[in-house]
Amino acid sequence: MSTPYPHPPYPAHPYPQPGAPYPPVSGPGCEVCGALPAAPVTVRGHQGMVVVMRFTRRRGTLCRPCALAVFRQTQRDTLVRGWWGVLSLVVTPVVLLLNLGALARIRRLPAPVTAVWRPPLDPGRPLLRRPAGLLPLAVLAALAVAVPVLIAAGGSEEPSGVRFQPRRNTEPLSVGACAHNDREWPHQDLRNVPCDSPDAQYLITDQHNGYCADGDYYAHLQYSADGVTPLCLHPVRN
Ligand SMILES: [Zn+2]
Repeated sequence: MSTPYPHPPYPAHPYPQPGAPYPPVSGPGCEVCGALPAAPVTVRGHQGMVVVMRFTRRRGTLCRPCALAVFRQTQRDTLVRGWWGVLSLVVTPVVLLLNLGALARIRRLPAPVTAVWRPPLDPGRPLLRRPAGLLPLAVLAALAVAVPVLIAAGGSEEPSGVRFQPRRNTEPLSVGACAHNDREWPHQDLRNVPCDSPDAQYLITDQHNGYCADGDYYAHLQYSADGVTPLCLHPVRN
């Protein structure tokens, strides 16, 4: 079924990344939040238990923020629980270093341009910037190995838009009106604005046959009047 709204020749991207090619928005979405683009990610963990040890593996198709959250959580768990065994003292730095390959792949993923059924995971702060307990433990356990790994894993700052901030706008959106996002994509902090306002970024529409039109975005559920049917956001300008 065709959309009653004029459609751009290709999907409009309201948050273009300077110098970046047009991001791919097809293929499987993130398993956690549904956002695109997403890619297969595998992060390994290790737990030493004095005489035995345990290897863990977290694998999935994830968007950049969700993958970064899984990576940081797993590295943190390995840094805390990895060292407790003679063999584990050797295995843990190897596992931490192997994960840096996964981190490089995660960082090559563009930021999500769609969000479907829930917000992405919060990557939190880079490991090196987390307070209390973690760093002294890791430093004591394997000073020479852990510090370079930590620096490589947590040294660079994420763009501030990836962080969660309190949502300011909680009013449901009005179909037929326009909306402005006060947050940087993929986060949504949407408010109703008149369509003739310079702030208007999206025309708010209902779904057609259960889907938004190609190139449209899905508003988070809390912005619909019934709280269960996502509204569509049709870009009205770039
Ligand atoms: Zn995600």
